[in-house]
Amino acid sequence: MHEVEVVIIGSGFGGLGAGVRLRERGRTDFVILERASAVGGVWRDNTYPGCACDVRVHLYSFSFFANPDWSHTYARQPEILAYLERVVTTFGLGPHLKFGHEVVDAVWDEAQARWLVTCANGARFRARFVIAALGGLSRPATPRLEGLERFQGPTFHSAQWRPDVPLAGRRVGVIGTGASAIQFVPRLVEQAAEVHLFQRTPAWILPRNDRPIGPLAQRLFRALPFLQLLLRWGLYWLHEARVPAFTKATWLMTLAARLARKHLEAQVPDARLRQKLTPDYTLGCKRVLVSDDFYPAVARPNCHVVTQPIAAVTERGVRTADGREHPCDVLVFGTGFVVTDVVGPLRVVGRQGVTLSDAWRDGAKAWFGTAVHGFPNFFMLTGPNTGLGHSSMVFMIEAQLTFVLKALEAVSSTGARWWQVRDDAEARFNDGLQRRLRTTVWLSGCQSWYLDERGKNVTLWPGFTFTFRAGLSRFDRTHHHLEGVST
Ligand code: NAP
Repeated sequence: MHEVEVVIIGSGFGGLGAGVRLRERGRTDFVILERASAVGGVWRDNTYPGCACDVRVHLYSFSFFANPDWSHTYARQPEILAYLERVVTTFGLGPHLKFGHEVVDAVWDEAQARWLVTCANGARFRARFVIAALGGLSRPATPRLEGLERFQGPTFHSAQWRPDVPLAGRRVGVIGTGASAIQFVPRLVEQAAEVHLFQRTPAWILPRNDRPIGPLAQRLFRALPFLQLLLRWGLYWLHEARVPAFTKATWLMTLAARLARKHLEAQVPDARLRQKLTPDYTLGCKRVLVSDDFYPAVARPNCHVVTQPIAAVTERGVRTADGREHPCDVLVFGTGFVVTDVVGPLRVVGRQGVTLSDAWRDGAKAWFGTAVHGFPNFFMLTGPNTGLGHSSMVFMIEAQLTFVLKALEAVSSTGARWWQVRDDAEARFNDGLQRRLRTTVWLSGCQSWYLDERGKNVTLWPGFTFTFRAGLSRFDRTHHHLEGVST
């Protein structure tokens, strides 16, 4: 059994950010447990061709670690992964990292006021605090299609790309047309003989306007760091300006839809294909996508957009509901992730033996996506209702980390046995949150992974990100209980 002050689970943006902030405060007694053999989270796992961030990278990066060398306004996956690796070396996180440590269990020991954390490899840790930085998009979702096991060729998910499977000159079936697929389909169309793109719902797509960042701009960013700060600040407010269209003034989405239709018209000359690619739900209800090269790719003669529902997978292809068989040598799933089941297979047992799954029987909820009553000294990063439809998750993670440090300091400075969010504060927070969600575009009638099986939005933050940050910027004793300390 290893004794530590803090266990951090996961080494993506959240886990690494937590490590940096802890060290900055002189807290060095922590480990970062990582199930894989390298850092990076989604940016390690998603290596599909064309993988890039879909938020401008000067915003989608840590505020405390500017990178003057980004090569594009929407950085590519290898560059973002290299950035995260540089976070490890620059901030001395190497000695804290433990790879091959998949956490299966975290159990609160009330008598000791400690968490007992067990890994699949048998390693055990006793920690005062746990920071679960599991990430929202770490578990690929592959649909159970009838007959899939019969298929003779290779099949894989976009988050588990198989570089060993040759695609050049082959017939590739792609299932799904979400954020990942629109990035890899253009690369596939360039090399495959044919691409059959099975589309269940067309996505709203806006121009990305990606630009290379030349050596002159990079030199300027290096010489005058405030320029990059200024750009980040400008991008931040540009993104925040979109919030009302998602939350209250959803009629504004008709303007964005006009822009998206123009984009489609400019890039797809064939009216029949355009019709297939035109969504019939309010823009914003599902994640808005950005791309400059998806439409031109699907307009190419070797790409076939199939809108008939998939009936079954056969030995040599995919059969659709109209009885047609679409011959494929390889099947690629761009079908997204298991998102609404927030902690997945990790078993978290809080006070009185209550598990997080018990606490979340009616849907995942937390106080600012960070704390859950009954789970003392336990923090989540990117927990329930912290996702965004309009801006950078790195901002949300940093806001959460500000609170984590405040809570840790509150426990240390008061000599409390432990901390937890108050029941009534958490309930009030969630009532308000669900009330605000009612008017949002995400509940305007489409099916999306933002909603759980009850139709409840447990994934998105319905407002400006600065209000999220403000709510987490101080440790308010009326919201929090410190055990053993009188109020
Ligand atoms: P996604 O957006 O959830 O898209 C999944 C796609 O698969 C959708 O088109 C969906 O259709 C389809 N699908 C799912 N199950 C299906 C089934 N049984 N039969 C047919 N089609 C099915 O997943 P993703 O593209 O992997 O992206 C997930 C999230 O990752 C994104 O929303 C985004 O937050 C993130 N992402 C971010 C970046 C970035 O740059 N930061 C890049 C890629 C992804 P329906 O629409 O009909 O459900």
